[in-house]
Amino acid sequence: MAGAGKNGLAEIFMNREAQKDLGCQLPQPSVPGLYEALLSKELLDISAPVEIAPNYPGDSPFSMQWMAGLGKGSNCSLSVLSLGSHTGTHIDFPSHILRDGFPLDSYPPERFITPARVIAVRNCDAVPVQALHDVNILRGEAILFKTSNSFQGLMHNPTFRDEYVSLSPPAAELCVSLGAALVGIDYISVDRYEDESLPVHNILLKNDVLILEGLDLSAVSPGRYWLICLPLKIKDAEAAPVRAVLVGRSHES
Ligand SMILES: [Zn+2]
Repeated sequence: MAGAGKNGLAEIFMNREAQKDLGCQLPQPSVPGLYEALLSKELLDISAPVEIAPNYPGDSPFSMQWMAGLGKGSNCSLSVLSLGSHTGTHIDFPSHILRDGFPLDSYPPERFITPARVIAVRNCDAVPVQALHDVNILRGEAILFKTSNSFQGLMHNPTFRDEYVSLSPPAAELCVSLGAALVGIDYISVDRYEDESLPVHNILLKNDVLILEGLDLSAVSPGRYWLICLPLKIKDAEAAPVRAVLVGRSHES
């Protein structure tokens, strides 16, 4: 199965006691277990509201049609959803841009439940490579960039803005060499709008680094968390919306 080894469940999923039983270890003791993080009941929703989030030009807009309603004499409410697979907060898989790239259903659920590092970056058009200097990234971690996109609330503005903060190709290269399993950003593309060659998508997806786009990190402090971002189980999908949450207290180490 694609990418299963990159951030293996047995490696990091359980709490420390369970890990002792399984004979496996956390990447570093400074990352608290998921079980502990869930017990803390600290949870931040970093998903954008689907009906408000901006649509990338050319993508299908979201719509919700009511086929039946309790207020209209029916015995149930029933709706039909229509949306592009890159709507709101979503994951891009390698098959999005690579002919032989793996689609969504090649990935096991543990790829979507992972330790994550939130890095804040200000005053830039594209996240520079320097944003990753002096940051202790663990192999297999997700790296999420909080930029001025979040400070401006861009994922809560339905009007598409072409001057969003993207990720620079050198920063993407460094994410790959640091062993990131997923890279996230707080607008609907990691690439600059004008750049149709999609260099950042290519760098990340060719190296089996999943891309989480359309995050709202406005309420999140930099630091370490657990990220849960499960997509729907859709065969051969190249992308899918997710409900993304950060769990646990921010750990800076
Ligand atoms: Zn996308």
